[in-house]
Amino acid sequence: MASQDSDQTTTDQLAFQDPTKRYPVISPPAESLPGTGLDAEMTPKADLGEKSYRGTGRLEGRKALITGGDSGIGAATAIAFAREGADVAITYLPEEEQDAQKVAEIIRAEGRTAATLPGDLRDKAFAKELVDGAVDQLGGLDILVNNGGKQKAAEFEEIDDEQLEATYDINILAMFRLVRAALPHLEPGATIINTTSIQAYQPSPTLVDYASTKAAINNFTKGLAEALAPKGIRVNGVAPGPIWTPLQPSGGQKPEDLPEFGQSTALGRAGQPTELAPAYVFLASPESSYVVGETLNVNGGMPTP
Ligand code: NAD
Ligand code: MG
Repeated sequence: MASQDSDQTTTDQLAFQDPTKRYPVISPPAESLPGTGLDAEMTPKADLGEKSYRGTGRLEGRKALITGGDSGIGAATAIAFAREGADVAITYLPEEEQDAQKVAEIIRAEGRTAATLPGDLRDKAFAKELVDGAVDQLGGLDILVNNGGKQKAAEFEEIDDEQLEATYDINILAMFRLVRAALPHLEPGATIINTTSIQAYQPSPTLVDYASTKAAINNFTKGLAEALAPKGIRVNGVAPGPIWTPLQPSGGQKPEDLPEFGQSTALGRAGQPTELAPAYVFLASPESSYVVGETLNVNGGMPTP
């Protein structure tokens, strides 16, 4: 259904526009993509900002590592960071190589360095390997975006130990390990940005494991921000609402809920990944120098505390 496709925007994010109409209301098919899902296989297409994100030099020369940078919010952030002048390392699961290479190509087309570092965030040893790989290929590190995540919709009784442990490992434990590994490389002015969720405040009955990791991420963000601010390292979070990314049609929602995805927001439509990118750019850039321990909600108008 081409008219629903969201990647055809010709105006950039700085063009004045009606937010209810910036993107169409989408009605995705009730399907379930295998594994973590591929951006390349999404119907309708998501907008990662390939054609629409315009940089204004806000991250000139910075070096960023983004987990889950192959698709969705992480990919849109990676593209935006490169357009703002940063070199970018992305990590993702090996089976997402196709998506990762597309993002890397866009980064390189900006004349920036792209490092593609596949691996599993559940693997304890990977955190250090990943940080070392990013530092090695980019020549340093000053932005860490903890964004990779797992969401599987299930009734509470269906959440077995395997799902529970995977969700906690990927969503919150990996953040501790990555920050620990990154810290020795981070200098004053460096920033850490964690992806949390509207689910931290409004847990869905079918996402009890996931939502509780997101509440933990909010608290982790505030505590870590207090711990690192004296060193000149700022920590903040971004809490997305319903955003059209592979996580949703690969089990993040029950298939029967997909056709109405995002329509209950105040704007009446799902968000596109590139609509999140400016929040990450702001929190990564020096212009947010006095913003510490904050969670920026980007959710189309879903009330938060
Ligand atoms: P996405 O599927 O595009 O990105 C998630 C990425 O996590 C995947 O691409 C994958 O590379 C990575 N990942 C998952 N398991 C991994 C593992 N074991 N090892 C390494 N990497 C792994 O979906 P997205 O929606 O862009 O997700 C990004 C973040 O945004 C997640 O933390 C998610 O919880 C959060 N979020 C998404 C929404 C939404 O509506 N899409 C809303 C709120 C929060
Ligand atoms: Mg992916």
